[in-house]
Amino acid sequence: MSEQIKYILDESKIPANWYNIEADLKEHTPPPLDPATGKPIDPAKLEAIFARGVIEQETSRERYIPIPEPVRAILQQWRPSPLYRARRLEKALNTPARIYYKFEGVSPSGSHKSNSALAQVFENKRCGTKFITTETGAGQWGSALSQACQIFGLHCRVYMVKCSFDQKPYRKAVMELFGGETIPSPSNRTEAGRAVLAKDPDCSGSLGIAISEAVEEAVKNPDTKYCLGSVLNHVLLHQTIIGEEALLQMEMANDYPDMIIGACGGGSNFAGIAFPFIGEMLRGGKKVDVLGVEPAACPSLTKGKYAYDFGDVAKMTPLMKMYTLGSSFIPPAVHSGGLRYHGMAPQISNIAKQGLMRARTVQQLDVFRDAVAFARSEGIIPAPESSHAISAAMDEARKCAETGEHKCILFNLSGHGHLDMSAYLEYFAGKLKNYNYPEQEIAMALSGLPVCDENAK
Ligand SMILES: *Cc1c(COP(=O)(O)O)cnc(C)c1O
Repeated sequence: MSEQIKYILDESKIPANWYNIEADLKEHTPPPLDPATGKPIDPAKLEAIFARGVIEQETSRERYIPIPEPVRAILQQWRPSPLYRARRLEKALNTPARIYYKFEGVSPSGSHKSNSALAQVFENKRCGTKFITTETGAGQWGSALSQACQIFGLHCRVYMVKCSFDQKPYRKAVMELFGGETIPSPSNRTEAGRAVLAKDPDCSGSLGIAISEAVEEAVKNPDTKYCLGSVLNHVLLHQTIIGEEALLQMEMANDYPDMIIGACGGGSNFAGIAFPFIGEMLRGGKKVDVLGVEPAACPSLTKGKYAYDFGDVAKMTPLMKMYTLGSSFIPPAVHSGGLRYHGMAPQISNIAKQGLMRARTVQQLDVFRDAVAFARSEGIIPAPESSHAISAAMDEARKCAETGEHKCILFNLSGHGHLDMSAYLEYFAGKLKNYNYPEQEIAMALSGLPVCDENAK
């Protein structure tokens, strides 16, 4: 008898609501502060940047928030996404562990980013926004937002971190194909970009710089709003559809994870898979060991400081309480562009602080070694970002092979790597290297944390 490897839910099983973890947290996530006053920011002030509907989601404490029907209808094209049991990988590792993964690479953009892009563009359409600006690291968010804007008829301008712009020309092509406009950042179009270029004309860019440029444009133009692809509560909320589906699919598999693993950039795909399970646990359900994985080159959760910091380089965003490496930190140019962010989502930082999750780092060469092994077993070419989760899951399975433990491991495969083949080529050619923890740069960036009452406590 063949053993089941794929768990597919019927379209009608697409969750009707997003899950908001804030409803189940005893200690709520600290609110964003207005840098001008050091006090919680007035939501009305956020409307210069974000759509109203999105701001409501950002501050909600309702446990379930309905997914608007037009968004759900579009999500139906590829959702529910499949959950796989990695039988061939288990055999290759000779492990008694059971490994499951949720595959988000089936979306139009090839990653989980489409889940939030559609929800955000829909809210912007609803409040009359004409232009949307954003940043993108590796290009996945820019692709997802361009496609969502195409669907709802809005114009999309994407500031793309320059080193990714150069490394990943096909991402730019995808954004253009979907009608998005791509600009390498730092650029000459904005004050923020010009300030960076004046100091360092060869700057390779960072998400923090690209955010400054995109926010600046939104603030200066009334018909323009900004969308962020990770970090904020509403983005994490939109991604919980992943974990809600996984709850149903694990039930189909007649199994339940002992451990949940996700790669952490700003934290959205990790929250997406983990929060619904953490919610079960907080409401008295089964305990799960939750592990976030980040690159050794950009270790915000494991080496950052839990403090109020800016989300961008030019210090234009509200202050957010998060594990941060300092907003001026520019991470080394690792091939996982989506993980090069100086901070971690406030909600994830909060649950990490409360001990509801753990975090670890992995090195680039181990990530690629395990990505290749995974692809050879499972036939799916993973994005380098997602491969951080793969590598950590394989480590856990290897441990089980030693101890004989029959652990059930669930990880999120956040996207495919079809547009990352140049990184794989470099790996095969032996050109990739590990980056050591950039201790001095981080110490310097941390010394520049904003001065406010909260940080003085
Ligand atoms: C953007 C991205 C990530 C990292 O972002 P999070 O917000 O932490 O999820 C991870 N994997 C893929 C495929 C991405 O595109």
